Amino acid sequence: MPRPILVTGAAGFIGSHLTDRLLSSGLEVIGFDNLSSGSRANLEGAMRNARFRFLEGDLLDLEATTRALGESELVFHLAADPEVRLGAEDPDSHFRQNLKATYNLLEAIRSRRARTRLVFASSSTVYGEPTGIPTPEEYGPLLPISVYGATKLGCEALTTAYTELLPFQVIVFRFANVVGARAKHGVIHDFIMKLQANSHVLEVLGDGSQTKSYMYIDDCVDVFLKPLDAAFWQKPAELYNIGSEDWINVMRIAEIVVESMGLRDVSIRTTQPHGGRAWRGDVGKMQLDIAKIKELGW
Ligand code: NAD
Repeated sequence: MPRPILVTGAAGFIGSHLTDRLLSSGLEVIGFDNLSSGSRANLEGAMRNARFRFLEGDLLDLEATTRALGESELVFHLAADPEVRLGAEDPDSHFRQNLKATYNLLEAIRSRRARTRLVFASSSTVYGEPTGIPTPEEYGPLLPISVYGATKLGCEALTTAYTELLPFQVIVFRFANVVGARAKHGVIHDFIMKLQANSHVLEVLGDGSQTKSYMYIDDCVDVFLKPLDAAFWQKPAELYNIGSEDWINVMRIAEIVVESMGLRDVSIRTTQPHGGRAWRGDVGKMQLDIAKIKELGW
């Protein structure tokens, strides 16, 4: 009997789509989430599936985490505080929800001592402001400019270090921005919320020239299915950039959101005339080199 797969952050944007896809592939899934930014509504379909079990709990609670881990041999670790922007005001949240939570999960795995494979959802923000774009996995030194990026890099480092301590393997996916239904953060969600509150004026943070790569949720979930194949796990630790091969600036995204909502006569205003960061920790240009994962057929 295959063991159930544990998905942390299962009630979130990406976690709920991943859970749906694992279930539709006939797998058994345990979803673990403290519902801090995720919701039961995201798991409405999953909750009706007999192969799904939802455990409301917090990774900061080691006992609850150990119980959730149960006998799972494969863990998709997505739980995090993903709000890059809020790190400037509340670094402690990123420290606890990202670093401490990941450490607890690793400790739960260590105390069990059974062979475990973990897939970690990291981020392009670990690169900081790279001089080489598109940025390959080998790029360095890694100098994140947000607390979020710093804690994601710390999580990567912790997971790879644990491969020395245990019968444990890790795959790190460094994602570009992911977009799609159920997203509750990021630029598109922000614009929609603003336009629903005021359909005449749209405020763009920064000067609108920030240019980044975005990928659709289905493509993101596709890559998470790769580690279901045992052949994908060749090394103790492996790392892949995951993104799209194009990029777009924030001003154009604003225009597309306005058009898509069927609005006219919207005045798009920027918070800065030109240059400068949209907020402390925002990366101005981001595009990942995805040749490595493409070689594996993604
Ligand atoms: P999300 O906020 O929708 O999902 C995160 C989930 O984790 C939420 O359901 C939240 O309730 C849960 N959670 C947070 N802290 C927890 C804790 N201590 N214990 C248990 N559950 C907890 O965010 P998302 O966009 O779905 O992101 C999922 C993962 O992918 C995150 O690790 C994020 O850093 C990473 N990521 C996302 C993007 C993106 O564009 N969305 C890009 C790169 C990386």
